[in-house]
Amino acid sequence: MDTKRPTIPAAEEILGGYFPVLDHGFVSLVDYMGSDEDVERAARVSYGFGTRKVSQTRGLVRYLRRHRHTTPSEMVEFKFHCAMPMFVARQWIRHRTASVNELSARYSLMPLLFYTPQQEQFELQSRSNNQGREGGAPPEVYQEAVRRWEELRADAGSAYSWMLEEDVARELARIDLPVSMYTQWYWKIDLHNLLHFLSLRVDPRAQWEIQQFGRVIAGMVKRVAPLSYEAWVDYDLGSEPLTRIERDLISRVVEGGDEGIRARDGAALSMDEMKDAGLSGREIGELMEKLHAPSIPDFELDLSRMVDADTMAEKMYEAVPSSFD
Ligand SMILES: Cc1cc2nc3c(=O)[nH]c(=O)nc-3n(C[C@H](O)[C@H](O)[C@H](O)COP(=O)(O)OP(=O)(O)OC[C@H]3O[C@@H](n4cnc5c(N)ncnc54)[C@H](O)[C@@H]3O)c2cc1C
Repeated sequence: MDTKRPTIPAAEEILGGYFPVLDHGFVSLVDYMGSDEDVERAARVSYGFGTRKVSQTRGLVRYLRRHRHTTPSEMVEFKFHCAMPMFVARQWIRHRTASVNELSARYSLMPLLFYTPQQEQFELQSRSNNQGREGGAPPEVYQEAVRRWEELRADAGSAYSWMLEEDVARELARIDLPVSMYTQWYWKIDLHNLLHFLSLRVDPRAQWEIQQFGRVIAGMVKRVAPLSYEAWVDYDLGSEPLTRIERDLISRVVEGGDEGIRARDGAALSMDEMKDAGLSGREIGELMEKLHAPSIPDFELDLSRMVDADTMAEKMYEAVPSSFD
């Protein structure tokens, strides 16, 4: 049956397809409602499906995002099916402006799938960022960590399977399953809040594992609402707000006028001058970063990795404790 609903060919191409993330996770765009034109239509509260030119829509979408007029982008909705390790889910669920239905381990049998970081991701504790990692760990430490993970998981999986065989309630059998284990959910969120989620979670300061999910989701947004995606890259992802002190300092070295922007003659700022202006050492480091041109990934989806729902479901089913097939 034909639909009167607006559809986007690039989104239809991936709709219902499953994109693997990490070793056992995935993201699938299950449904979407609306696109860039709906942002414009909501902003103008206009009738019917308009005949505006793409360039006019683009100009408005960019204006709205630049000036944080965000309610029109709440009119576009996305529904995803995702599987992620539980420790990633704990970070993800902090984004309260979405609707979630998680797989119930009280009701369902949990697939015994656990996340194992690749060696490149196995790093030592960062010295500069307490929430981060830096520098590769020695290979023998990685091998021993994998051995210990496997041992723990084999134990946890076998205790879980044994309790199920003894007909222990699933809600109790699951209580010592580790947070490396994969869970799943349906996740519905509007474009405005999704872009906020992505700004925080594709950022290098977010944990690498959740960034991988963010990158795939960003590739999906790019297909559903390309103009909003572009405006988000330009005005959110690639931008950094300047603080009052930073603006003051920068205005001492460059000036803007009718003829453009130019450096003030011989102007420079020493570290001491920045400290005297009130910046902490950390803020000085952040200002230096802001002065670098941003490097933005393009978040293009790799369609060759897309699998169908049945293939993904089969993989999950195979990992359910075997005596319960
Ligand atoms: C790199 C990083 C490190 C983090 N580290 C920690 C940590 O150590 N410990 C920790 O607990 N969390 C941590 N978080 C989680 C973080 O504090 C936020 O909970 C999470 O990023 C969700 O952001 P949010 O509240 O803006 O998003 P959402 O929940 O999606 O909310 C979106 C926006 O809606 C508004 N909003 C939503 N609910 C309310 C409300 N009840 N009241 C007022 N306004 C509301 C706010 O403007 C908010 O920004 C971290 C997040 C990141 C990205």
